[in-house]
Amino acid sequence: MNRSNSKSSDAVEKLLVKYTPDLKRIFRYDAEAFYPKGHEYIRDRLDEIFSFEIRIRDRFVCVVCKRTYPEVLPGCGHLITRNCYPTRWAEDNAHCQCSGCNLIHEDRPDIYRRIWETLHGGHEAYEALVTRAYATRKMTMDEKVNLFIGYREKLKAELVTLGYYKKENA
Ligand SMILES: [Zn+2]
Repeated sequence: MNRSNSKSSDAVEKLLVKYTPDLKRIFRYDAEAFYPKGHEYIRDRLDEIFSFEIRIRDRFVCVVCKRTYPEVLPGCGHLITRNCYPTRWAEDNAHCQCSGCNLIHEDRPDIYRRIWETLHGGHEAYEALVTRAYATRKMTMDEKVNLFIGYREKLKAELVTLGYYKKENA
């Protein structure tokens, strides 16, 4: 195992311990109970689970500066703003990004965009993402609840892979 990998798995271990109460809460949610609570409530639940899914997928390593916890605080960085709902919870629109690089992104979106393009198939792929982002169709409650359930399954599987959650507890 090379140095950056061991640094990363160290960060994963520490952060999963730190986030255990949040993860437990997320796994306890009754998704059926989201319906009467409305769109804003489910939006916040989706934001939360999506952020975990992205950060854990990327093992808490910032896509831009490649640093990890505790050197930096890893967050979920959208390439195209969260204001665009069609790609707000699209996995290809987000990577783990530290708070510093996330802040820089506001003034210098080209830095992350160039990295994104090398990871996702170039500038044409970026143009396609922009088109999706600015589409106007609204998601239904059903779609949002199903998206939440899907991300939760994915997150569980990821955590099992990491050896963190035993299958019987997940
Ligand atoms: Zn960074």
